[in-house]
Amino acid sequence: MSTLEIRDLHVDVAQSDDAAQPIEILKGVNLTVSSGETHAIMGPNGSGKSTLSYAIAGHPKYRVTSGSITLDGEDVLEMSVDERARAGLFLAMQYPVEVPGVSMSNFLRTAATAVRGEAPKLRHWVKEAKEAMTELDIDPAFAERSVNEGFSGGEKKRHEILQLGLLAPKIAILDETDSGLDVDALRVVSEGVNRYKERQNGGILLITHYTRILRYITPEFVHVFAGGRIVESGGAELADELETNGYERFTKSAASA
Ligand code: ADP
Ligand code: MG
Ligand code: MG
Repeated sequence: MSTLEIRDLHVDVAQSDDAAQPIEILKGVNLTVSSGETHAIMGPNGSGKSTLSYAIAGHPKYRVTSGSITLDGEDVLEMSVDERARAGLFLAMQYPVEVPGVSMSNFLRTAATAVRGEAPKLRHWVKEAKEAMTELDIDPAFAERSVNEGFSGGEKKRHEILQLGLLAPKIAILDETDSGLDVDALRVVSEGVNRYKERQNGGILLITHYTRILRYITPEFVHVFAGGRIVESGGAELADELETNGYERFTKSAASA
């Protein structure tokens, strides 16, 4: 049983102009995600959802000015990006990076080695990776292609979910894993997320702009994000309300806060 705990988190983003004042994006986020729970974070564009995932992952552009993030009581903010991954945090980037010259199979084995603390035995690994790829309808030829290079949007997302299954983190942060997917890819990706939850009893923070993915992945908790903080929390029924009414009622109150 693991718990990611975020308390009164405030985050600045550095401006590209060094002389400019940093602007505060997150304005006091409180959230607790435990093993076996799916939390959906929904909110309008620009509300700070990706900033939250970057801050958890330790992206250098996003500076935590106050508040805390802990994983099972350990201070995540004190950890390097690698240490966060080894501690059991997983971040699927909204814009996954390309790594030319590194094949997917090498990339995955290196990542698994780092997270597990030892290299998986090659024979087992080949079998394990192959099975995971089959489950996600990924062509085996993919294993020899450079990471994300020339991958379509849907292929990148499948690759993220492949990593999720093989790295078996304690808590997974999925930032707009549903964006740009056609219905078939959305179903395959969602099934991968559901398998991760069943097999690893993983905790999931699912950040999304649309309610569409929530037809395939049922969250126990839904949080509305507006103006850099969570402005309302509820169960799956809250997502239905958002589908019908949109975010207007929340963006208005966030602006006047
Ligand atoms: P969301 O994911 O909810 O669409 P983001 O976290 O991407 O929102 O962005 C929140 C706000 O922070 C936006 O106004 C965005 O322009 C700003 N922002 C995020 N990252 C940066 C950055 N690296 N440089 C400047 N502004 C940024
Ligand atoms: Mg505060
Ligand atoms: Mg975003």
